Amino acid sequence: MKLQLPVHKNEHRTGTVTDLTYEGNGVIKVDHYPIFIPNALPGETIEYVVTKVSKNFAWGRALAWQTKSADRVELADQRYLQTGIAPLGHLSYPAQLKFKQKLLVDLLAKAHLPLEVAPTLGMKTPVRYRNKAQVPVKLIRGRLETGFYKRGSHDLVPIEDFLIQDPVIDQTIVAVRDVLRRHQIPAYDEQTGRGVIRTVMVRRGYYSHEVMVVLITKTKHLPAQQALIAEIVAAVPELKSLVQNINEKQTNKLLGDQNRVLWGQATINDQLLGIDFKISPLSFYQVNPQQTEKLYQTAIEQAKLDGSQTVIDAYCGIGTISLAVAKHAKKVYGVEIVPAAIADAKQNAALNGIDNAEFVVGKAEEQMAKWQAAGLKPDVLIVDPPRKGLAESLIEAAGVMGPQKIIYVSCNPATLVRDLQRLAAVGYQVTQPIQPVDQFPQTTHVESVTVLERTDK
Ligand code: SAH
Repeated sequence: MKLQLPVHKNEHRTGTVTDLTYEGNGVIKVDHYPIFIPNALPGETIEYVVTKVSKNFAWGRALAWQTKSADRVELADQRYLQTGIAPLGHLSYPAQLKFKQKLLVDLLAKAHLPLEVAPTLGMKTPVRYRNKAQVPVKLIRGRLETGFYKRGSHDLVPIEDFLIQDPVIDQTIVAVRDVLRRHQIPAYDEQTGRGVIRTVMVRRGYYSHEVMVVLITKTKHLPAQQALIAEIVAAVPELKSLVQNINEKQTNKLLGDQNRVLWGQATINDQLLGIDFKISPLSFYQVNPQQTEKLYQTAIEQAKLDGSQTVIDAYCGIGTISLAVAKHAKKVYGVEIVPAAIADAKQNAALNGIDNAEFVVGKAEEQMAKWQAAGLKPDVLIVDPPRKGLAESLIEAAGVMGPQKIIYVSCNPATLVRDLQRLAAVGYQVTQPIQPVDQFPQTTHVESVTVLERTDK
């Protein structure tokens, strides 16, 4: 049986955009059938061509605008929209903040959870905020280029101004690229598996201004090594650490396991809420320091810590939340699955003279059960899980342990809403408006803090 779809491929149509998806695409509906159109905003009437059809939805491309949204920002460089750099770059910043709040509101409504969502805490200057960049290196028409992949592809778009990165990081990438070009270092080719340099990673401390450059290579051998080192050192005044990371596998994974310090230190330092952190090439470290401070501050304030509480920080990474909380708590326990991160967390605790924080390697859901069996009674549980959210077993363990408060730091509204329902089933209710904090301006990512309290004690 041939399906009767309301539109067909290559058809030219006119329509009004009614919604914006969580990926930032405009939606036009034809008899309830959605057509997703990049670079189209709610309220705009556009002429478009249907580029792809499937059973439940289609894709289109905007050709001309009959009316434009008052929230539209004309981007000088349209390439930002096509890459993952700034998929919301065409939307004014106040409208981006509302979009992120509404995304949570809509998901809660769909789940029949009548909860309040506070306005998104945004940045004063919502550009040039990232303290870290990882840029692919490719040979294009015989020239080594650094840039960004087109969304959903491995086509490199050469870019020098990345818009959302610390400008010193942009300058450093260009300087490193020029040194690599000068010595004709071969770029890695994903198809053939040949070549040397895969990715350039740069980090810069927001407060410390210390710069780390990591050259991620396919091969152990780095041609012209001494000259490369000397020239990068000369070109990057704030350089503190130059590292080669070797990734010999034919894989999408960015970083390998082996690091060789080529020059300077193995780590750089930076601060968050006045606490010193050592950051190594493989460490997870929050990329928007200004907003991370707001996010943690919000979590600490909402936990109402007065120095008497015992706190568990599940999914603690290198201990950033744990150490920020330690000053305001009696004792903090952190658990994290990556052993290197726990080693960093312990070192960071010692570096800051913090002796009331204890760190364990493990799965949060398993460690919670162990702590519970050992009789640990936390007053506050802080969770900051990856995108997939909390494991059921962690929620069960939390229910049995019975902390008075749970602070949920979320990077994925969909799993947050699911977990809030599950937490309600074990006796936890949301007691304050959910607070979105914009960690990734110009992108569609939504981070938030939610406070839950035990209702049956
Ligand atoms: N709170 C930290 C890290 C948050 S990112 C910060 O703000 O910097 C989430 C962390 O959860 C990552 O470090 C990841 O390695 C860790 N993780 C993922 N699955 C886990 C699990 N099952 N148990 C414990 N940690 C886990």
